[in-house]
Amino acid sequence: MTDHALPLRLRLDGAALVANWRYLDRLSGSAACGAAVKADGYGLGADQVARRLVAAGCRDVFVATWAEAAALPALGVSLSVLHGVRAEDMALARSGIARPVLNTPAQVMRWKDAGGGACDVMVDTGMNRLGIAPADIADGLLDGLALETLHSHLACADEDSPMNARQRDAFAALAGRTGARRMSLANSAGIALGPDYRFDLTRPGLAVYGGIPRGELAEGLAPVATIEAQVLQCRIVPAGGTVGYNATWTAPCETRVAIVNLGYADGYWRGFSGRGTASAGGVAMPVLGRVSMDLLALGNDAAGVGEGDWVTLPNDLPAAAALSGMSQYELLTGLGSRFERRWTD
Ligand SMILES: *Cc1c(COP(=O)(O)O)cnc(C)c1O
Repeated sequence: MTDHALPLRLRLDGAALVANWRYLDRLSGSAACGAAVKADGYGLGADQVARRLVAAGCRDVFVATWAEAAALPALGVSLSVLHGVRAEDMALARSGIARPVLNTPAQVMRWKDAGGGACDVMVDTGMNRLGIAPADIADGLLDGLALETLHSHLACADEDSPMNARQRDAFAALAGRTGARRMSLANSAGIALGPDYRFDLTRPGLAVYGGIPRGELAEGLAPVATIEAQVLQCRIVPAGGTVGYNATWTAPCETRVAIVNLGYADGYWRGFSGRGTASAGGVAMPVLGRVSMDLLALGNDAAGVGEGDWVTLPNDLPAAAALSGMSQYELLTGLGSRFERRWTD
């Protein structure tokens, strides 16, 4: 990206990011608190996120793929690749930039055959996503591995589901059975389920970025990312005139409208059509009609913004998720490449 001034910004609050992580670290009790920075730091920028969290004391960072690991600067802390090692990953994996989280018997054999070395392992305790089976452990699959952390992942941590306790118990039953130095189960929501879900290391993602997966966490978390979009045109729509694709909004009376530089290609999803709001100077501006790919129409009667002014989008993720029908995860990770990401702190 050039330093050409962009018509779309993401204001990123580094102090809030660090405060969120510190809150999760405190809640993690005697367990270490790591951070998932996969998907480019949930859309905010993995490099900037990881530097700040490491400076705040985070010692365990998680990415999904080796490409994500290679794109990070050397952080000097533990970095794990959640998707393990495919054959295609081995050269990068053997270079030592990160530890693989081995997920399948084939990955375990691949790692052993290549000479082993420090690794993590994911065991599936009921989600049926990634991970070896507990029975593989009983059969000795992990014997001889230099196992740093044994992981499992909760399927329903953001709900009060009996599955949570079942997974916790299945995971706890593996304690002392693998030679792993540490055990790790909880994502953001899992941290709120109680001390017996925390084991030795937690792996929050969403909550670090201000998402609130369970109400218990709300008091300690603050938004990190705020969208600001520039006004490209102001117009007056006469009574009976329509706005946007498919003419889904009709002006009941003469209405001032501001067109701003933000659309679904930026992760401002079509679910906000006719439902979302922005604001300028604290005055609300309703979204009128459909969200376009690159543009959005806002009611401008009260705010009275002009061409070149900026509007702010609300940053309350649970409210935005409820309004748009998207998950908080999608709202963050969908934030596109057309923002100027502007950090304070
Ligand atoms: C993404 C991910 C996390 C982080 O989950 P959040 O719900 O964002 O806190 C933790 N562990 C694993 C294995 C993951 O894939």
